[in-house]
Amino acid sequence: MHIGFIGLGNMGSGMAANLLKAGHAVTAYNRSPAKVAALAQQGATPARTVADTCRGDVVQTMLADDEAVENVAFGPDGIVASLPPGGTHISSSTISVALAQRLTAAHAEAGQSYIAAPVFGRPDAAAAAKLFVIAAGAPAALNLVSPLFDAIGQRTFVVSEQPYTANLVKLSGNFLLATVIESLGEAIALVEKAGVDPAGYVDILTSTLFNAPAYATYGDLIARKSFEPAGFAATLGLKDVRLALQAAEELTVPLPLGSLLRDRFLALLANGGGQLDWSAITTLAGRDAGL
Ligand code: NAP
Repeated sequence: MHIGFIGLGNMGSGMAANLLKAGHAVTAYNRSPAKVAALAQQGATPARTVADTCRGDVVQTMLADDEAVENVAFGPDGIVASLPPGGTHISSSTISVALAQRLTAAHAEAGQSYIAAPVFGRPDAAAAAKLFVIAAGAPAALNLVSPLFDAIGQRTFVVSEQPYTANLVKLSGNFLLATVIESLGEAIALVEKAGVDPAGYVDILTSTLFNAPAYATYGDLIARKSFEPAGFAATLGLKDVRLALQAAEELTVPLPLGSLLRDRFLALLANGGGQLDWSAITTLAGRDAGL
């Protein structure tokens, strides 16, 4: 398949490389051109503009946030204006429900398909083609692009025919992950203050009641206080908690823990931690405990 790929950050670089490895022809664009050069060495065709990525059947975007996606999707040289009728835009960025709805309408008006396909998994999973793809959109369009999901992930879950529902599921999952990170940080601070070794404590948790990837991955990072380089930056974590709160407000669903987490992220950012991994919010629980 001929794919345009836009956004070669921590996640997109691994995803695009796996599309190449699976035998697809990839034309790649990134705001900072150096990242395109790295992928070109693996066989990608460099694109100088967003429009250059829209010559095939499918364009996939993996960008930081709503603003980045709006920048490449709309405007005279954006994806909506450049993709031929019948083309498909797969949006894998974690974006707002509202933007997913706007993109769905804009692509439909242009005679194109829009699929939301955000992912679970950090950059190591992206590089190893082990992502979980949370997809939603029209069944015919989903069928067409399913080989692309197979190339980047270990399993695809289809939520519904409404693309925004995949974004809502993704945001709810990240909200839940952030609550795990915060509660792990508080629990570790409690035992660490009494002199218990954090790594041994996490081993007890993950070998008994909390045998799940979220506790293993983040328990390890928090116990080792390993927050750099960020796999998922705190600025992006704040973005996702905000987007979950926005969606919850729209649906009139209180998320009291979401409001607490928003303040944790703001405190981390206010103290210069925006580029740390989002699990660095746990340093605040440690600080509050006098550690
Ligand atoms: P990242 O490393 O920060 O990469 C962000 C990408 O967006 C880069 O290609 C960047 O271009 C581009 N970008 C940022 N602002 C832009 C703008 N205004 N206009 C055009 N391009 C812009 O982020 P990431 O970790 O790959 O995450 C990408 C998306 O996946 C996010 O929505 C994130 O929430 C989601 N996600 C991340 C993870 C994770 O663990 N990292 C897991 C699942 C989902 P430059 O290279 O020029 O900066």
